[in-house]
Amino acid sequence: MTKPVVTRFAPSPTGYLHIGGGRTALFNWLYARGRGGKFLLRIEDTDRERSTPEATAAILQGLTWLGLDWDGDVISQFARKDRHAEVAHEMLARGTAYRCWSTPEEIAAFRAEAEARGTYAVFQSPWRDADPATWPDAPYAIRMKAPREGETVIDDQVQGRVVIQNATLDDMIVLRSDGTPTYMLAVVVDDHDMGVTHVIRGDDHLNNAARQQMVYDAMGWEVPIWAHIPLIHGPDGKKLSKRHGATGVHEYQAMGYPASGMRNYLARLGWAHGDDELFTTEQAMEWFDLSGIGRSPARLDFKKLESTCGWH
Ligand code: GLU
Repeated sequence: MTKPVVTRFAPSPTGYLHIGGGRTALFNWLYARGRGGKFLLRIEDTDRERSTPEATAAILQGLTWLGLDWDGDVISQFARKDRHAEVAHEMLARGTAYRCWSTPEEIAAFRAEAEARGTYAVFQSPWRDADPATWPDAPYAIRMKAPREGETVIDDQVQGRVVIQNATLDDMIVLRSDGTPTYMLAVVVDDHDMGVTHVIRGDDHLNNAARQQMVYDAMGWEVPIWAHIPLIHGPDGKKLSKRHGATGVHEYQAMGYPASGMRNYLARLGWAHGDDELFTTEQAMEWFDLSGIGRSPARLDFKKLESTCGWH
């Protein structure tokens, strides 16, 4: 029996729902809904300085208007911080992480020396294999014991086979010395605990995937299927920004665009089903697949958006 599909949308609540985020959510929703799976919503509010309740409300409102309903309760990443710490300690117990007392000054000095020597400045902590007898009685960070040799291969459904040399990645911190988890750890623990089978997100996270995959391996957890989608560009081929036009889902709502038309247009932004341009949400659910996602960034085309919405 194949596992039921579980996808998720995991926005950081730092602003309104951007149409890029709306598209990511839509792809995950279509993929799950078309396969009788689950679509989950996790608010990545670990960064307490940048996260706001107003942004969370705006994101939920945007998703609701777009008609992208999620299963179960909205999950707060911050609320799961004890679980993240627990996993970091489990990594310690498994020997796939270690206690590190290096100070920011020591790390900066290591980098400066490596740069002066002209070698690659990946920090190598002296605590990686330190004798427990030498451990100071002071708060420590927990670092992942990342493999130093070989390569990590991301088998991505959109980008293909992406190979990362392990020597280029440092032993990242998973739990800070104040006991708070890093974002990189939190994402993996949450996706694992939520049973996420497919991680469909922007390709600005492709580099993170290698590090995240190392955490899955360190815990002996099954790696999800990765699908990193190219970001949306403006009509001029540059990164989409406000100067191109409206970038907030709420702005299209305020202008009176129909949600069904937005779903149709956003589905076509980077995904194709033959030559079909105009379709219903039911058709999109039936047709949506990862193999139809293009490798190059889609360009926002306001005329096409108008005509698509006009059809709905
Ligand atoms: N919170 C991240 C963002 O808003 C997404 C992380 C993920 O999808 O894994 O960019």
